Amino acid sequence: MKIFLLVSVIFFCSCEAEIKSRINGERCIALVQKQIDFGPRLLNSPAAKQTAEWIAAEAKKHGWSVVIDEWTEKHRGKVNTYRNVICTLAGESDDFILLGSHYDTKTISGKPNFVSANDGGSSTALLLELMSHIPKNKIAVRAVFFDGEECEVNYSNNDGLHGSRRYATQLVLANTVKQCKAMILLDMIGDKDLHIAIPANGDKPLKDLLMKVAKKNDWGQYFSKGTNSVLDDHVPFVELGVPAIDLIDFSYGPGNSYWHTEKDTIDKLSPKSFQIVGELTLQVLEKLRP
Ligand SMILES: [Zn+2]
Repeated sequence: MKIFLLVSVIFFCSCEAEIKSRINGERCIALVQKQIDFGPRLLNSPAAKQTAEWIAAEAKKHGWSVVIDEWTEKHRGKVNTYRNVICTLAGESDDFILLGSHYDTKTISGKPNFVSANDGGSSTALLLELMSHIPKNKIAVRAVFFDGEECEVNYSNNDGLHGSRRYATQLVLANTVKQCKAMILLDMIGDKDLHIAIPANGDKPLKDLLMKVAKKNDWGQYFSKGTNSVLDDHVPFVELGVPAIDLIDFSYGPGNSYWHTEKDTIDKLSPKSFQIVGELTLQVLEKLRP
């Protein structure tokens, strides 16, 4: 019995070590911690501004060009300031792939210690890490860090998805919607207990491609095609006809009980989840821009 236990422990450990990924999971965790150190990235907060500036500085280090798009919107008699961080890796053609993450923290009264490690923090960290691994090629890549994903009261035309709706409108005004060949949104990807059920409201061929790549890596157990639709930052692009998907693990803790609570802390995240989702995203990108 003792021998059996020993063998299973060794087997378990070797499995853990066998993740083949270019993504540095520990660095991703450190990038989440950095955001937590700024404080909750609440609407109109100094921490939100500092985070946007930090994202811009990190992106520049990876050789991407960066614009911070700052604007205001009036909601319920209050003027709110938002900032999207728009990062571009230029290509030879006008075509581009769009990657997205929101970085804002939802303001929840009575929960001052809600740090949103996974909800905003994890995807922002992974997108920054991904940028250091994406090579230049014919097709450009844009990584946009959206502000104002979270609603103040209820999702509506002027509450929630502020950053993604703003950027989608900018694509329309610039007449560049057709050049956006695909959009991959990352959200809540760091959970130790990783399972991404890709929301139903997304592009089927892109979902098929992702599932194919997941299975090729023997990661089929971490991904499935979900049956529920999710209102998230990919929706404004879906509405424009852009092939878009949302990689979200919307099962965070028992019964999703860590979501939007003070339980959404860094100890709930695993470097391995970043490695899996990140490597998969890199491989899908390679298929989209060979
Ligand atoms: Zn949220």
